[in-house]
Amino acid sequence: MNNAIPALRWQLNRRPKGAVNPEDLELIEFKPDPLKAEHIRIRNIHLSLDPTQRIWMSDREQYLAPIQVGSVMRGTTVGEVTESRSERFKPGDLVIAGMGGWETQTDIEAKSASRIRRLAGVPLTASLSVLGNTGLTAWFGMTRIGQVKAGDTVVVSAAAGAVGSIAGQIAKLRGARVVGIAGGQAKCEWLTGQLGFDAAIDYKSEDVGEELDRHYPDGIDLNFENVGGAIMEAVFNRLNTFGRMALCGMISGYEKDGPVAGPEDFSRILMRRLRIEGFVVLDHLPHAKEALDELAPWVVNGQLRWKDHVEPGLENALHAMQLLFSGRNDGKMILGISPEPAFSSGAAA
Ligand code: NDP
Repeated sequence: MNNAIPALRWQLNRRPKGAVNPEDLELIEFKPDPLKAEHIRIRNIHLSLDPTQRIWMSDREQYLAPIQVGSVMRGTTVGEVTESRSERFKPGDLVIAGMGGWETQTDIEAKSASRIRRLAGVPLTASLSVLGNTGLTAWFGMTRIGQVKAGDTVVVSAAAGAVGSIAGQIAKLRGARVVGIAGGQAKCEWLTGQLGFDAAIDYKSEDVGEELDRHYPDGIDLNFENVGGAIMEAVFNRLNTFGRMALCGMISGYEKDGPVAGPEDFSRILMRRLRIEGFVVLDHLPHAKEALDELAPWVVNGQLRWKDHVEPGLENALHAMQLLFSGRNDGKMILGISPEPAFSSGAAA
């Protein structure tokens, strides 16, 4: 890292109330400490922006420690090693840091970084999307939690988003029938026209319940749920006996404080013998190879499509978060922090 360029990071200044506000976070300059033994210094190239980061800004009950006020925002980054005090990596290596930060450079223990093995023709950003946690979330949620099988009637919410679009395609590749729920006609047309979904429901202009009844008069076997609230309830109320819900996310509740309500008729779980299972991709990462062995060939063969939405500039992090929560992201939300090195197939893979 050129020391003449100041190191910058986003710090959490206070816990947001509702949508993230410019006063909640601050972009500050920082002076890196000397690199510790067994650590590497990474020049961050891309940062993954995820709905769950809004949860980390709060102190509600959650699956990781909340980010402390005054600390750097946490996020997964892809970057280039610039300095190494570990045998594992050398300067120039491309790595992914699951517990990186919203910052231009990050020091982490070498054992918590993974080397990126690039595939020819696949952009580096895919390490944060279809071949990163996004794709893994879709794969584990659809195959392991949802246990999708041929002939299932499947509904995916936030279906045109990063996780949902891949989850729906995986279900199609496994022989299921898939209806996606998304906001707006353009997203719905993408699902049916480009991704092979059987149908799509525009929750902004259509009655979700009525449309579900029309597409699935015999009910729904599997719900891959990303949104929560009224959309989830409409699907839940139509789950068949022995139906399943892979509860991946509840984005409609992330900006609210306090508990988030579930479906009104809890007894349906008993009467219909439903299985509702929440999951977090981090628990499944030890088995990532199994998922990637299926996902990577689909990507290379063009059987699995995805979009990366890259907003350039660390300073635009808040704007990018607003895009996610207003549905104006067009694919996996990624912040571009610094230029990518030239791709050399010999040096990678
Ligand atoms: P997306 O790319 O799907 O972007 C979020 C989308 O959610 C928006 O584009 C918007 O789509 C929709 N949305 C936002 N606010 C609302 C709202 N209030 N009501 C309905 N829809 C809304 O993001 P991701 O793919 O990264 O995340 C999707 C879900 O998956 C999130 O709930 C996230 O927390 C979850 N997730 C869970 C993981 C796990 O391990 N369990 C890992 C990664 C993600 P539209 O325009 O269609 O409304």
